Amino acid sequence: MIVDIHTHPPQYQQLPPGIKPEYNGMWRPDRPVKVSTCWDDYMEAQKPAVRSVVFGIAVNPSGEHRAGDPEWSSGNVNDGVAEFVAAYPERLIGFCAVHPFDPHCLEELERGRSDLGLKGVKLGANYQNYDPLEPRALAVYEYAQRHSLPIMFHKGTSPVRDAPIRYAHPMIIDEIAMRYPQLRMVLAHMGHPWQVDTCVVIRKHPHVYADLSANFYRPFSFWEQMIKATEWNVLDKILFGTDWPITDVAESIDHLRRVNDIVEGTKLPTVDPEAIEAIIERDSLGLLGLE
Ligand SMILES: [Zn+2]
Repeated sequence: MIVDIHTHPPQYQQLPPGIKPEYNGMWRPDRPVKVSTCWDDYMEAQKPAVRSVVFGIAVNPSGEHRAGDPEWSSGNVNDGVAEFVAAYPERLIGFCAVHPFDPHCLEELERGRSDLGLKGVKLGANYQNYDPLEPRALAVYEYAQRHSLPIMFHKGTSPVRDAPIRYAHPMIIDEIAMRYPQLRMVLAHMGHPWQVDTCVVIRKHPHVYADLSANFYRPFSFWEQMIKATEWNVLDKILFGTDWPITDVAESIDHLRRVNDIVEGTKLPTVDPEAIEAIIERDSLGLLGLE
């Protein structure tokens, strides 16, 4: 069963106004991301997956994008995701987007879990511009551990200019995992370009995983991360994901199966095809306690 562990709603519901146009050409080096504003596009792109996890991102409550624009409150983002999930309950699982600086953050987590039926939490400390080890962030992890909600963290760099890169380094998760040993966490994008740091963190902590979403279009890095994951013996901690609308399921599977193309005809090592199929079919929901 194919599970896409990392998808976003159509962009108009995901990113604050002002971010989309200026950065769209920078997400992928090979082509611009197709901007979509409708759920039908989402469902079409997800077709090969049996289940998909979807989440928005909550903007900084004191940031310029939120000021005077209630459309971008975390509550609004979560309502939109919950409404979509309710329309496809057999297919979709929603996560709750919160910002630790929101004075109602813990109430929103409770509302998301109890009223909206959201099953996990989405955080992106660089995009949200908060220190992931500061007390208000720790309160979110504590809540998530107490209620068995997995957290999907954006990890890795980003072209967004006012998103501090250091807050997205995978090594920070090591400290969080030591404080909250039962908390299930996913490090998105293998923490690119720090994939080997991600490997050592997920190797060390039994409940910490990584997804390989939105990495294949840098084919050398993609092959290298899979070889490093092989050498560090963490291929079984890697979950399948797309980061839709950045990529889709069919495209991501196709490129994953062709990860070794770039070293064909060389003496460089190759990724085990059986391990690749295991990632595509991985029971990510079971590993994260979602089923
Ligand atoms: Zn994402």
